[in-house]
Amino acid sequence: MPTYDFRCAQCGHKFTVLVSISDKDKVTCPNCAGKKVEQLFTGCAVRTGGGGGCDMPTTGGGFGGG
Ligand SMILES: [Zn+2]
Repeated sequence: MPTYDFRCAQCGHKFTVLVSISDKDKVTCPNCAGKKVEQLFTGCAVRTGGGGGCDMPTTGGGFGGG
């Protein structure tokens, strides 16, 4: 099961939760029990003016050609 990083919009607490995708919207803040949390995209974050090096979810798959 993947982990997701969240940040609470109420207290600003950052936390990581181990949940399935379908349960992501049920995540609450462990600090203040706030339900208004926003997901953080770490690691391979989408940056403006960036590019390269990310494992983007491509349809079809298949890197290289060998
Ligand atoms: Zn909170």
